[in-house]
Amino acid sequence: MRDKLIKFMYGRYGVDELGKVMLGCALVLSVVSMIFNLFWPLGSVICSSVSFAFMFLIIFRAFSKNINRRVMENHKYLARTEKLRGKLKFYRTMFNERKNYAYIKCPNCKNYSRVPKGKGKIKITCRVCKKQFEKKV
Ligand SMILES: [Zn+2]
Repeated sequence: MRDKLIKFMYGRYGVDELGKVMLGCALVLSVVSMIFNLFWPLGSVICSSVSFAFMFLIIFRAFSKNINRRVMENHKYLARTEKLRGKLKFYRTMFNERKNYAYIKCPNCKNYSRVPKGKGKIKITCRVCKKQFEKKV
């Protein structure tokens, strides 16, 4: 059984970052569709149709043998969302370190500096513009 699956998938593209994001969108749209079904049937039909289209695309891309084209699509997606993904990663790090570190925005250049929490009033030197400012952490 497993060998058959491996043989079947040989030369096919599989799932990438774009596929995972589309799967997430499809699942969210399915849930929204169920909620809409309670009070707005047309909205429910629209959401489930878009969700179905996403699922079709995911399956089409995963079983596609045109690997170059799928790689280019994924590349385009990654390039277009690079800034947003960077910001999300930064906020995730900020949240995970919230107990030990404070993130202070520089009043001059608006960049963030990571400083240890619970040290009282400290002098912070911005890494980017070298401006010094004081802040209580
Ligand atoms: Zn600065």
